[in-house]
Amino acid sequence: MTANKIRVVVVGAKGRMGRETVKAVLNDPELELVGCIDRTLQDVAVSALLGHEANGVKFSTDLSKTLLETNADVMVDFTTPATMKGNIDKAIELGVRPVVGTTGMTPEEIANWNQLCKDRGIGGLIAPNFAIGAILMMRFAQQAARYLPHVEIIEMHHDQKLDAPSGTAIKTLELIALEREAMQQGHPDEQETIAGSRGGDYEGMRVHSVRLPGYVAHQQVIFGGLGQTLTIRHDSINRESFMPGVVMGCKQVMKYEGLVYGLENLLD
Ligand code: NAP
Repeated sequence: MTANKIRVVVVGAKGRMGRETVKAVLNDPELELVGCIDRTLQDVAVSALLGHEANGVKFSTDLSKTLLETNADVMVDFTTPATMKGNIDKAIELGVRPVVGTTGMTPEEIANWNQLCKDRGIGGLIAPNFAIGAILMMRFAQQAARYLPHVEIIEMHHDQKLDAPSGTAIKTLELIALEREAMQQGHPDEQETIAGSRGGDYEGMRVHSVRLPGYVAHQQVIFGGLGQTLTIRHDSINRESFMPGVVMGCKQVMKYEGLVYGLENLLD
């Protein structure tokens, strides 16, 4: 154990996001990887996951035991909606700060974890999107809507994604709606020759979801005004894009009490 480093346990360590997180934690001088948890680990060579020998990192399927044994400061969770809730409960109970990218919790659950974190005097973070560029894209779109209220969103994701539109598109629409009165866009008498051509409707804003192999996660927000358009676009080309946000989250949760929902709340 190294003095003054933030001790991190990664849950879902052999998944796609978990592997990236393991690498990102190992590469950051202020963080120390102390544990890797997954549902099954026997089929994963330690060296394949870490890139070198275990070197004191605990590998286990038992989260509570590992959090205790490693005296962890932070638990990063990239698992499944069904698993993540129990993991957050266990971490908070043991005074370990949760940093969670898995989605699927209710506002009531978030409010409850916020109170539990405050009671324990620890910070926590749940971020539906850890890509800092995506957070900025949403923030810039919210600003632009004040001056250019006619807006449509096109989001593009890999074809294994189950939900549409994406959580990021919904969050963008919600933020824009704070700046813009609900109104109908397009021609009042427009008709769809093919149903769905004009996309989903959120307070008059149209949202279109593209699902194709080859994409990771992409979104463009298009504003139209007199004689001009403005397009704000973000592309997550691979899962590394989420890692600066995860690393930032691990450091920030050490500095406040209560659970923050959304990485945007940690940006200056
Ligand atoms: P994945 O590749 O399927 O990885 C999930 C990992 O969790 C797998 O290794 C899985 O093991 C493990 N797991 C399942 N149940 C577990 C349990 N009970 N205890 C411990 N580990 C368990 O999925 P992914 O692509 O990494 O995505 C993980 C989550 O992150 C998803 O919810 C995804 O939507 C989310 N995500 C968030 C962001 C963001 O920016 N917030 C970005 C990308 C993805 P098995 O394979 O053995 O079941």
